[in-house]
Amino acid sequence: MPRPATLRPNPEVPVFAPVVLLLCVLAVSTPGALRLATGVPVWLEATRALGLASLVLWALSLVLMLRLRSLEEALGGLDRLYYLHHLCGGLAYLALLAHPLPLFLASAPGHWLPSSGWAVAAGWVAMLAMMAMMLATFLMSLGYARWKQVHAVSAPAFVLAGVHALALAPAALSLDSVLAGLALLVGCACLAIRYMMEAGRLRSLPYRVERVAHPAADITEVVLSPDRLMVRPRPGQFVFVAFFDGRNFHGCGEFHPFTVVSSEPGSGRFTLLVKALGDCTAHLRDLEAGTRARVEGPYGSFLATIDPARPQLWIAGGIGITPFVSAAAARPPAAESVDLFYLVSSPQEAVGLERLQELAGSGRHLKLHCFTGEDDFAHIWQKIREQLPDLRARQVFMCGPPALVDGLRLALTEAGVAQSEIHSERFDFR
Ligand SMILES: Cc1cc2nc3c(=O)[nH]c(=O)nc-3n(C[C@H](O)[C@H](O)[C@H](O)COP(=O)(O)OP(=O)(O)OC[C@H]3O[C@@H](n4cnc5c(N)ncnc54)[C@H](O)[C@@H]3O)c2cc1C
Repeated sequence: MPRPATLRPNPEVPVFAPVVLLLCVLAVSTPGALRLATGVPVWLEATRALGLASLVLWALSLVLMLRLRSLEEALGGLDRLYYLHHLCGGLAYLALLAHPLPLFLASAPGHWLPSSGWAVAAGWVAMLAMMAMMLATFLMSLGYARWKQVHAVSAPAFVLAGVHALALAPAALSLDSVLAGLALLVGCACLAIRYMMEAGRLRSLPYRVERVAHPAADITEVVLSPDRLMVRPRPGQFVFVAFFDGRNFHGCGEFHPFTVVSSEPGSGRFTLLVKALGDCTAHLRDLEAGTRARVEGPYGSFLATIDPARPQLWIAGGIGITPFVSAAAARPPAAESVDLFYLVSSPQEAVGLERLQELAGSGRHLKLHCFTGEDDFAHIWQKIREQLPDLRARQVFMCGPPALVDGLRLALTEAGVAQSEIHSERFDFR
């Protein structure tokens, strides 16, 4: 199991750090700057500013954790939103670590010793909990479920840090206390909302499994239909689905992201193709019709920038084919040509191939190139170069294992394709 990559750079994500950092510095330095004029020691102000910066950034990262659809759309995708969430969380952690340093440097033990009072002790507990969480995240090889449990430590740590900041603010109605109070309030509201979302009590809609099939040994095809209200995905979008109990099936009840392969806007019915990649998805092989589910979304703008008037190169690795199946079906007849390279480890794994061949044969200017496990990266890349002499004129969309997507992105940029023309979706954000 790979180690969680909590702050992996995404080449498609603009650099948000300076903006976030600037806003934070402005927010926390104003009260301090006002007080410095009245003779308060600099080291005390530096400690306060770092603590407040940490709390504000932390609260911001909790807002981003709610995956608000309006924010997701504004930022251009959930991966970007999660990246920003990790960035705010990472900066908050660094500010938290630096927060007591000015006190050590000024040799002011009366301010930092845990015995100085319950508020200081609460701050230490919060910091130690976060240090333990970060060490476990980066040093241990945790599975996704365990990683989520470890991550949950940050909720009580945030509350303790907020209470610490409020209790040590210079005056009950100072700018510091208002800022700390607001951050604490917003953060706690976000934690409560997220808890309700995870429990399937907020933002998700009740669905039921209508049909289950097994097109390949480790792939489950699931048709879901709504109880009443329905989600309305666009081609290439994904939803978060949690499967609960059926007659004999006991679902894991966790929300996982899956791309909608096809949908019927009238009835709200939609189809997923799920590959057994871990505990929860492997268990879905036993899924049965009638099982209750909850669906949240849709999310994603991976294919939103497709320009039908321009030639395209689509590359799918394994189950990464799912966004392209719906996109191929939705293509207008007059659209420019698409070359779809579909890479699978064995012919049995090529799910959706029949449907794609059908679409390719229906005059949609769709050309299929299927490669199996025997073909190495160099061979596939050579084929792409041979078949597509106009590579630089194409829009490129890729979905599949991160190593494949990263390797192809490098090869494409070296071949002169502009970064802005290369779009990718990763099936593994955390
Ligand atoms: C945008 C997107 C679209 C996807 N579409 C499909 C699809 O159409 N078909 C398909 O088979 N798979 C799809 N996946 C992958 C699928 O979500 C994971 O395989 C599944 O969540 C694994 O869960 P698990 O408990 O079985 O395995 P685990 O062992 O728990 O996880 C395996 C890996 O899956 C990822 N993962 C697990 N849970 C989540 C989660 N809640 N949120 C984000 N990532 C998670 C992690 O990177 C983890 O390392 C998609 C993923 C993303 C991010």
